Amino acid sequence: MNAPVTRSRVLHRSSRTAPPLAVGGHGVWLVEQGGREVLDASGGAAVSCLGHQHPRIVEAIKRQADRLCYAHTGFFSNEPAEALAEELVGHEPGGLAQAYFVSGGSEAVEAALKLARQYFLELGQPRRSRYIARRQSYHGNTLGALAAGGNAGRRAPYAPLLTDAFSHVSPAFAYREQQQGEDEAAFTARLAAELEAEFQRLGPDTVAAFVAETVVGATAGCVPAPAGYFQAVREICDRHGALLILDEVMSGMGRTGTRHAWEQEGIAPDLQAIAKGLGGGYQAIGAVLVSARIADAVERGSGAFQHGHTYLAHPIACAAALEVQRVIREDGLLAQVRSMGARLEERLTERFGNHAHIGDIRGRGLFQAIELVADRSSRAPFDPALKVHQRIKDAAFARGLGCYPGGGTLDGQRGDHVLLAPPYIVSAAEIDLIVERLGEAVDTAIASLP
Ligand code: PLP
Repeated sequence: MNAPVTRSRVLHRSSRTAPPLAVGGHGVWLVEQGGREVLDASGGAAVSCLGHQHPRIVEAIKRQADRLCYAHTGFFSNEPAEALAEELVGHEPGGLAQAYFVSGGSEAVEAALKLARQYFLELGQPRRSRYIARRQSYHGNTLGALAAGGNAGRRAPYAPLLTDAFSHVSPAFAYREQQQGEDEAAFTARLAAELEAEFQRLGPDTVAAFVAETVVGATAGCVPAPAGYFQAVREICDRHGALLILDEVMSGMGRTGTRHAWEQEGIAPDLQAIAKGLGGGYQAIGAVLVSARIADAVERGSGAFQHGHTYLAHPIACAAALEVQRVIREDGLLAQVRSMGARLEERLTERFGNHAHIGDIRGRGLFQAIELVADRSSRAPFDPALKVHQRIKDAAFARGLGCYPGGGTLDGQRGDHVLLAPPYIVSAAEIDLIVERLGEAVDTAIASLP
C-alpha cells in the first residue's frame, strides 16, 4: 500500500504550508472547504471585479464552450475575440485602435515592450532599445517584465538574468518622496526634471519608451501620481519621440472609477497593458491595447508582430472577458465604483485617520490602501523583519477577511501596506464590514509585536 500523502502535490507559493481549499463563491464571498465564508476585500490581487460566480459570466463561458473552445490564431480569428476588441478600442479617432489578447498581465507587459521596440524598427530607428521605468513599480514576474519593474526584493534573486535595457527613476509617491515644504507642483516639476535628465543621460534617441503603472498597485499600495505628473511625462516622451507605455494590469478596467485610470490624467498612452479586471478572474486573459500610429506602422512596415503564444485570443477567455465588460457597462458599475470607493475612503479615514500606526490612506475608486508606520510624525516604517503586513493578513483571514498586504523595504523607502480592491458589486454594508474587520486585524497585529 502507498504511504498516505502528507503534502500537497501542488507546489504552492509557500512550500511549507498548503493554503485552505476554496470550493465555492458568491458575490464578494469565497467559501472554504468546511463552509467558512471569507469576504474577498481585495478581489484576490485586484482581479475579481464582478465578485464570484456571476451568473452572466458563467453562462457566457458555457455558451462559448459549447460553440468553440479553441482555434489557433495562426489560422483563425474567432467571434469573441473580434467582439471583445470592438468593445475595448477604436472609439476615439487616433486613439487606441487594436487589442492583442494574451493570457495575463506579465504577457501583456512583455508584448507591449516588444511592440515598442518593433515600432521603432518599422520606422528605421534601431537605436531605440532603452526603456525608462520607475523604482517601486511592479510589471510582472516574467524576465522582461521583472526587468522593467523596480521592486528591489522581487528582482534581487534573478538579477543575473535581467536585461540592463531598463533604468529606473523615482516613483511619483507623494507620501514617501515629496520633500518637506515642497508643494505638489514643485514635486511634479522635480520628478519631470529627473525624467528629462534620464533621457539626456541615455541619449534621447536611444529611448524606446517610458513605462509606468498609472496608479501603482502591489509594490507600494494604490499610489496615484501628483496632479500634472502624467501630462509632464507625456510631453517629455513626445518631445523625444519616445512612446508611453501604461501598465493598467491592476489599476485598469474600471478599478479607479473610469474604464482606464489614465482618463483621469488628461493624457492617453501609446501602448497599454491590461489584465486582471479584463476577465475578472473568470478566465486567464490580458491584452495590449495598441494606438493607431503603432498599428499603422506595423501594417505599413513588416506587416507582422513577431510574438506569438499558443493561447493568444483564446475564445473562452475572450467570451468571458466580453461578458465581464458588458456587465460593467450595462449595470452602470463605474458609477458604483466611484460611490462605493468614496464610502470606502470615508470609512478608512474614520477608522484609521487618527490611528497611531497608519501614516497614509490613499487610492482611487475601489482601489485603496493604508500604509503602516512605526511612528506617524517621522513616518518611520516598522522593521521589515517584523512582517507587520503578514501579521495583518493572518489576523484578517482569521476574521474571515481577505486583503492584499505588501511589505516595507529595508532602506525604509516605504512601509508595510494593506491594499483593498473589493469587487465593483460590493454593497455599502459589505464596505463597512471590510473596514470593521480590517480595523480589528490591524490592532491585533500591532498588539502582537514584540
Ligand atoms: N503589472 C501589474 C501592475 C501588476 O499588478 C501585475 C500583477 O500583479 C502584473 C503586471 C503581472 O500580471 P500577471 O500576474 O497576470 O502576470
